[in-house]
Amino acid sequence: MEPESKAPHVLIFPLPAQGHVNSMLNLAQLLSLAGLNITFLNTDDNHNRLVLHTNILHRFACFPGFQFKTIPDGLPVDHPRAGDHFMELFESLKLVTKPIFREMLCSGQLNSATGQSVTCIIADGILSFPIDVGNEIGIPVIHFRTISACSFWVYFCIQEMIEAGELPIRGNEDMDCLIRSVPGMETFFRIRDLPSFCRVSNLADPNLQYVSNMTRQSPRAHALILNTFEDLEGPALSHIRTKCPKTYTIGPLHEILKSKLESKTTLLQSRSPNSLFEVDKSCMVWLNAQPLKSVIYVSFGSITVMTKEELMEFWYGLVNSKKRFLWAIRPDLVTQKDVEGQIPLELVEGTKDRGYMVGWVPQEEVLAHEAVGGFLTHSGWNSTLESIVAGVPMICWPYFADQQTNSRFVSEVWKLGMDMKDVCDRIMIEKMVNHLMEETRETFMKSVTEKARLAKQSVSEDGSSYHNLDHLIKDIRLMSMTTTK
Ligand code: UDP
Repeated sequence: MEPESKAPHVLIFPLPAQGHVNSMLNLAQLLSLAGLNITFLNTDDNHNRLVLHTNILHRFACFPGFQFKTIPDGLPVDHPRAGDHFMELFESLKLVTKPIFREMLCSGQLNSATGQSVTCIIADGILSFPIDVGNEIGIPVIHFRTISACSFWVYFCIQEMIEAGELPIRGNEDMDCLIRSVPGMETFFRIRDLPSFCRVSNLADPNLQYVSNMTRQSPRAHALILNTFEDLEGPALSHIRTKCPKTYTIGPLHEILKSKLESKTTLLQSRSPNSLFEVDKSCMVWLNAQPLKSVIYVSFGSITVMTKEELMEFWYGLVNSKKRFLWAIRPDLVTQKDVEGQIPLELVEGTKDRGYMVGWVPQEEVLAHEAVGGFLTHSGWNSTLESIVAGVPMICWPYFADQQTNSRFVSEVWKLGMDMKDVCDRIMIEKMVNHLMEETRETFMKSVTEKARLAKQSVSEDGSSYHNLDHLIKDIRLMSMTTTK
């Protein structure tokens, strides 16, 4: 009986949302570069959008062991999959997608193109059914949680907050009161910094129950992957490792992928945005014409929605700050359909003079552009990491989920910018933009430059994320060791 090792076949299954698909595609490309066979399972809706708006098929065509497969998400074609409706995805994934997933695995439909069965599943950590299915049919499952370690730890401690009587929120609390039952965060973490799903008055709230239950499933997985790095989130990671000892931090993923590709100059490899939306590159021409570090880039990611009134507050705040701004406004960003009506002349003029608006930008490229000096963001984890790597300080206006927690860490712990959560007011926006771009600029630049350095170091050859990625790959390779006669 000789042990025989062959390239493992990894099934990667992300939650169908921009930030999740983006980081899991980056991981897929990294594992493919390491010679692993990959099946990337997309929902039909996400796959169609990716094929429409990116060169994704071409990009992965150079990996003979790579294939895309698709599965329904169970929602009607015209479902918005954003804003308040986003959470409906979870119910339909459980009801419709889970049995199909199980059937596809059992029947061999998810085998590789050469017929190899699945060695290991890397599933989105916000979904626990792949662990159930994997356990049932004997395939190890690795959870990949695409949020920050600090938010993961807060979600993990929901039970502790309930037992300590800190949840639910009763409605008359001082939102600046500290939360005491999340170990490591006792001195700075306030009620208002709780992830949006925790800000509920009823413990039976389905979203609270869902995120708490899902997060508590990760210790059942073979390992946990987080898109972060040790030098940024060491304290939260040491707490997480008491529950999930095998936690691989391999981020920032977009940066580690970039550095791996740069070192493989002979290969026909490329990186480009993994966008579910049509990228408008005209903003790069506009940026080229702007002075150094003069532009504040504004984007609220792929899921955030806002009212027309909020949009107007941001618009006035930006125009009144007299700073140059580039604003990515998705076609479905504003909830009301009737955003008609006259746009005030001062906004039209102010935007013509100093602003540029597009639907969706190549964000990593934008943040790396020398004209960009600040980022007004919703604090999605991908956006936060991209801003850190680019050395761009932030103003945070978190919308939901982990974003409220990320923005607290950005402002209070890492000192990379300012937190504007729970306020949407033109005067405040104007003030914060001026602070970030002028008055307190030096202070923020010092800390963000240092964090950017640490991020780059972590993905370099002697960095922690680089090593952890190697260990993860070895761990997966060990799974494919088989005994043959
Ligand atoms: N993004 C982009 N162009 C835009 C806005 C966003 O390419 O105009 C990308 C951004 O680079 C990031 C992702 O979309 O990788 C958003 O992920 P994040 O986790 O920040 O937020 P989410 O969309 O999940 O709320």
